[in-house]
Amino acid sequence: MALKLAGRLEALQQSEIRNMSIECARVGGINLSQGVCNTEVPIEVRRAAAEAIEAGANSYSRYDGAEELRRALSRKMREHNGLDYDPEGEIIVTVGATGAFYVAALAFLEPGDEVILFEPYYGYHVNTLRAVQAVPVYVDTEPPDWSFDPAALEAALSPRTRGIMVNTPQNPSGKVFERSELETIADLARTHDLFLFTDEVYEHFLFDGREHLSLATFPDLRERTITMNALSKTFAITGWRLGWIAADRRWAKAFGPLSDLVYVCPPTPLQLGAARGLGLLGADYYDGIRAEYQEKRDRICTSLERAGLSPWVPQGAYYVLADISRLPGQTSKQRAMALLRETGVACVPGEAFFRGSRGHRIGRFCFGLTDADLAEACRRLEKLA
Ligand code: GLN
Repeated sequence: MALKLAGRLEALQQSEIRNMSIECARVGGINLSQGVCNTEVPIEVRRAAAEAIEAGANSYSRYDGAEELRRALSRKMREHNGLDYDPEGEIIVTVGATGAFYVAALAFLEPGDEVILFEPYYGYHVNTLRAVQAVPVYVDTEPPDWSFDPAALEAALSPRTRGIMVNTPQNPSGKVFERSELETIADLARTHDLFLFTDEVYEHFLFDGREHLSLATFPDLRERTITMNALSKTFAITGWRLGWIAADRRWAKAFGPLSDLVYVCPPTPLQLGAARGLGLLGADYYDGIRAEYQEKRDRICTSLERAGLSPWVPQGAYYVLADISRLPGQTSKQRAMALLRETGVACVPGEAFFRGSRGHRIGRFCFGLTDADLAEACRRLEKLA
């Protein structure tokens, strides 16, 4: 038989984030691998989604999302991010930020176009690029603060470079890009006429008083910045798959039809639940996330340190990279599997976020879990000591 899969699949690999969740479920372990986020969903959000189902809002929403949610997101971006996007034509509700980036990649990238990513990177960004036959180009960042060399960023540019992906706070390192770093990126984008793709899903997960900055607010960047975000983490609804993409009208008009083509629309009653949440929850709720997650971060970092798995303390998001080189094995996958066998705690092997062998001594641990689950995971990790 001459039938075969399309060539684009050769470059795609199933994410270790998902693989480790499966390995973890097999042994009934505690999943610190996938960023599942099993903390409590705000009652306002849950109730409004349930009410929407009961009230019969169970058919398709408009292809670019329910009006209530587009309006709520527009208000949120104005008040929280200092960004002005029209809910009619500049905001498209997508199936997660994953759907948002896929739509953006389909809209802008030709086969062979290059997009720069900072390493460690989020594998879904890489694979989304590969799925549209674009080419990821990497710029190294160095611990402890995962900073980059501006000269290396410039050197990564080529005539095929179309854009730079900026994920801040970053998955997996927790890096929160500083104003001066974003200015460097902004300058390059202006000089070389590049798109800026941002993934801001962890915008509320900030520690030690850090601030989240949206690149689209920088002078003259609004038109070239494609801002992507999701409510998965903010409302602990990772399974609801609600994200959005905001951009200048001239680009945004392409996104709705693409989003429609891939999945028609995100689930309508869930969109209405999220819209109500955005309307009702105030600064207290968002401040609460920072405090709660800073505590969780400190807790897991202490346990990792005690376990001899030294962490690079994250500035934001809800992941921590740690040195797992004392665990048996040659690769990070072997080490992560050894940890799972020994403690019943799953982490993601570093090779999911780094090229070559650089990730082999690293594991990523998610701390977006209930206090009870996190306490049990920490207790198990500390037994390694
Ligand atoms: N963003 C989450 C993570 O990095 C979940 C991703 C996923 O399952 N695709 O773990």
